[in-house]
Amino acid sequence: MSASYSLGLVGQGISASLTPAMQEREGREHGLSVTYRIIDAERLGLGVADLPALLTWAERLGYDGLNVTHPFKQAVLPLLDELSEDAADLGAVNTVLLRDGRRLGRNTDWSGYARALRSTLPDAVHDRVVLVGAGGAGAAVGYGLLDLGAEHVAVLDTDEGRAHACVVRLAKRYGDDRVSVAPDLERALADAAGLVNATPVGMTGHPGLPVPADLVRPDLWVSDVVYFPLETELIALARSRGCRVVPGGGMAVGQAVDAFEQFTGRPADPDRMARHFAEL
Ligand code: NAD
Repeated sequence: MSASYSLGLVGQGISASLTPAMQEREGREHGLSVTYRIIDAERLGLGVADLPALLTWAERLGYDGLNVTHPFKQAVLPLLDELSEDAADLGAVNTVLLRDGRRLGRNTDWSGYARALRSTLPDAVHDRVVLVGAGGAGAAVGYGLLDLGAEHVAVLDTDEGRAHACVVRLAKRYGDDRVSVAPDLERALADAAGLVNATPVGMTGHPGLPVPADLVRPDLWVSDVVYFPLETELIALARSRGCRVVPGGGMAVGQAVDAFEQFTGRPADPDRMARHFAEL
């Protein structure tokens, strides 16, 4: 009999998520029976205050693990029995393993981003990078960049307090000399080889560019975390200027690859999962 895993994604407005299909298909490739359900808190009328009950019910119903997304990535922290060091550093969890009555928190957002960048632009991992957007995704991207060996990450956010908090968090692990708040986008970009958008700008419903178009020069590599749509305005502009690009689908697949391994103990095939994602 094949091993079976009962998994789910908890978040708000996640009904269009491609993660269930990706995880279930990868499970089949390994001869595992993986059932991965969407638990859309918005549709269920549940909020952050309902998360303790939701976790208890997931355990009672025999779930082996959950992915957790907006707005629960921080709210889940006090409900866990154990936290990996990277998740503690980031103060965010996107993967919860439910094992033997214990809840173990992991973060595969940062490793998923690092995986995507390393496989798409392996020669770019030591570059100086400008990171626009210092929320949850921005912190994970910054962590991924610095873990890969980026020389320096300059962080900008329209909310300066968030940029500062993100830098303090990253500097604690990687040092003050490798990450700072950038006072000026144009000057920071002039000194960088890469640009990452970690704001929601470019998402369906939030059209536009996160930086002025004239700052996207051909020798920059440009990366986006937004993946609805896969081809954001920023990625399309960058391609049209001849820039090398890392679209947001790479991070979405990367976090799923690493979560699959956390859930099942088996290494997922990243290329196969990327092909699945592209077909969906
Ligand atoms: P968030 O709200 O926590 O953070 C977004 C940050 O961007 C905020 O701090 C905000 O002040 C800042 N911001 C907004 N507009 C800006 C602008 N024009 N210039 C500078 N800063 C600006 O959101 P989040 O959870 O970090 O998510 C951000 C995006 O990342 C969303 O679109 C989300 O879907 C995407 N995301 C993708 C993946 C993936 O796997 N590809 C994973 C997580 C999140």
